[in-house]
Amino acid sequence: MTLPGPGVLAVHPSALAANPCLACGACCAFFRVSFHWMETDAGGGTVPTGLAEPVDLHRVAMRGTTCSPVRCNALEGEVGTSVRCTIHPLRPSVCRAFQPAWENGEPNPDCDRARAQFGLPPLAPGWHQPDDDSPPEAPAPDRRAA
Ligand code: SF4
Ligand code: SF4
Repeated sequence: MTLPGPGVLAVHPSALAANPCLACGACCAFFRVSFHWMETDAGGGTVPTGLAEPVDLHRVAMRGTTCSPVRCNALEGEVGTSVRCTIHPLRPSVCRAFQPAWENGEPNPDCDRARAQFGLPPLAPGWHQPDDDSPPEAPAPDRRAA
């Protein structure tokens, strides 16, 4: 068994089956992540203002995503191995809207493109339906009146 090195987050395999993004993070290190400034906490939103930088009059971007190489300052871990978004509940709408390919049965060429940049293969349809080798659940209790 290989233990993760320093700065690499350990992710349980079952979590990866549920969310391949935990072993990816490519889009957070590939695209400029820009959004309206009112999504920052200074504008009444959620995104920590200190993690955003101005783009123009109305838009800001996550720090680290306007330069090269791109890497959002909120991303922790190693791309392609084990990552997490340190502001996940507070992340901007653009991040919430960006879904891994096939999560809802739809392709996402931008997900494929970001992954390819890091030598990762595109996600395959059906990734979110892993083989279920877990024990069967107990039958639900009968709630009918006696
Ligand atoms: S590139 Fe796709 S799989 Fe990777 S973190 Fe982004 S959405 Fe998830
Ligand atoms: S805010 Fe989180 S989800 Fe959005 S680009 Fe940064 S690390 Fe990725």
